[in-house]
Amino acid sequence: MFVTAARTMGYDVIVLDPDSNSPAGGLASQHLVKDYDDTEALDYLSQHCAVVTTEFENIPAVTLAYLAKSVPVHPSATALHIAQHRKQEKEFFRNQGLNTADFIAIENDDGLENARDFSFPAILKTAMLGYDGKGQVVCQNFEDLQVAFEQVGRKPCVLEQLIELDCEVSVVLCRSLAGEVTCFPIAENSHANGILDVTIAPAQISTALADEAIDAATRIAHGLDYCGVLAVEFFISDDNRVLVNEMAPRPHNSGHYTLDACETSQFEQQVRMICDLPAGSCHQHSPVAMWNLLGDIWPQGGVPDWEAVLKLERAKLHLYGKSEARPGRKMGHVNCLGTTLDDSLALLETVRGILGG
Ligand code: ADP
Ligand code: MG
Repeated sequence: MFVTAARTMGYDVIVLDPDSNSPAGGLASQHLVKDYDDTEALDYLSQHCAVVTTEFENIPAVTLAYLAKSVPVHPSATALHIAQHRKQEKEFFRNQGLNTADFIAIENDDGLENARDFSFPAILKTAMLGYDGKGQVVCQNFEDLQVAFEQVGRKPCVLEQLIELDCEVSVVLCRSLAGEVTCFPIAENSHANGILDVTIAPAQISTALADEAIDAATRIAHGLDYCGVLAVEFFISDDNRVLVNEMAPRPHNSGHYTLDACETSQFEQQVRMICDLPAGSCHQHSPVAMWNLLGDIWPQGGVPDWEAVLKLERAKLHLYGKSEARPGRKMGHVNCLGTTLDDSLALLETVRGILGG
């Protein structure tokens, strides 16, 4: 979707992705099918590109640092590095004066012992490479934690207090090279099995809570001297605390609603920011409910009934062109527009009814 936005704005894009079936690679002017640490490929990028970005968080941060020696790179290697490790990320949020769920790092047996007095229930998360709820285990007590730590292969983890959630929201913002911040309306997210299921926008929270979340996300962006689109996920606890959960240094799934409901999409904003162009308007012109399409809804050996969805005028179907539909894999999404949020949600239920899931 970034490549589409960049090409719509007249840019050529070179994609580096080791997967020869990469959807982004197929849309790009050139696709380098090379590893993320292939220095020859990285040199080629820096010689041929005016700016380099990434949408994938699990490339080595040193790759970005290497590129940054010869070409502007956004997000920075530092922002990526912090986001790649849950402990660093939470410590960074705390150092910015922001609230997070209570947590401790568990890196080895000593760390595990230290967690004996932690306040359970809690959730153990591997510090690195987790996404869509992967590498997470809910623990009711210390005995559960001992089992869970084995289960995740004794990898470095954080143990985090399980929060009684009122709701979850995210702030998707863009920050220019000059440090100006523009913010999309806050998204409210519901998850199923740790995976984002539905985003509605605007979030149904008070202005005070919304302002607090926007302030926190803005502080994070400034703290990183960030350039580009940044997403920050928050827990709103049942006692009305705004807790920073995690950040994504890139356009985010909870910002996909902007493709159809806002004057500028998050992907176009990313192009504008990294190319040092003015930000577009983040104004939302329509209430929206986004539903993620997971591989689970693909019938055996077939495809879902897209035609029935396409007949619904205000349901906007987006498919990513991934080669294989697997359970839990994000294959696309549908943005359901409405005159009101209730309309949007009713349309989403119609789509869900058609496609199952
Ligand atoms: P990721 O998105 O990288 O898989 P998250 O930390 O965002 O990891 O966790 C995924 C989801 O699991 C969250 O959006 C939330 O629904 C739930 N979750 C994670 N941590 C907690 C927590 N401490 N308290 C309550 N729910 C949580
Ligand atoms: Mg998350």
